[in-house]
Amino acid sequence: MLGKTHLVFGLFISLLGLTLFDIGNPIGFLFIVLFASLFPDIDEPHSYLGRKVKFIGWIFKHRGFFHSIVWMGLCMWIVYLLFHEGIYIMGFGVGFLGHLFLDLLTQAGLKTWPLPHLKGKIHVGSWVEMVFFWFLLVANGYLVIKGGL
Ligand SMILES: [Zn+2]
Repeated sequence: MLGKTHLVFGLFISLLGLTLFDIGNPIGFLFIVLFASLFPDIDEPHSYLGRKVKFIGWIFKHRGFFHSIVWMGLCMWIVYLLFHEGIYIMGFGVGFLGHLFLDLLTQAGLKTWPLPHLKGKIHVGSWVEMVFFWFLLVANGYLVIKGGL
C-alpha cells in the first residue's frame, strides 16, 4: 500500500482506540501509532521514512526483515526502554501490525517469519486502494465528529 493509505489506516486505528478506551496521553498514542504504521517501509528508499535513510533500502530487501515480527518485537522493546509506558508499546505494536495487515492485502504480499508468503488481490496504487483510502478518510472524519475527539 501507499504511504498515505498506511497513514490513514494508522489514524483509523488510533481514533478507534481513543474512542473505545480511556487513553491517558491521546496525542502520544496517536503519534506512536502513526509512526509505527509507516515505520516498516523504512526499507523502501522511496517511502516517507525510507527517503531519510536511503542506505537501509539499499542494504535490506523491501518487505524483508523490517516487515518481520522479530523487528516489531525489538522495536517494542526499544519503545519500552524509552518510555516505560504500556500504552506506547501497545500503540507501536498495533500500528506496526496494521501496516503488515495492509501489505498482506496487496498482490506483492508479505513473507514474514514464521508465516509463509501470503498475498492479497490489491495492486498498490490501484483504484481499489484509492477507494479504500477515501473510505478510511471518511471513517476517520466520522470518528472525529461523532466520537467527540
Ligand atoms: Zn510495507
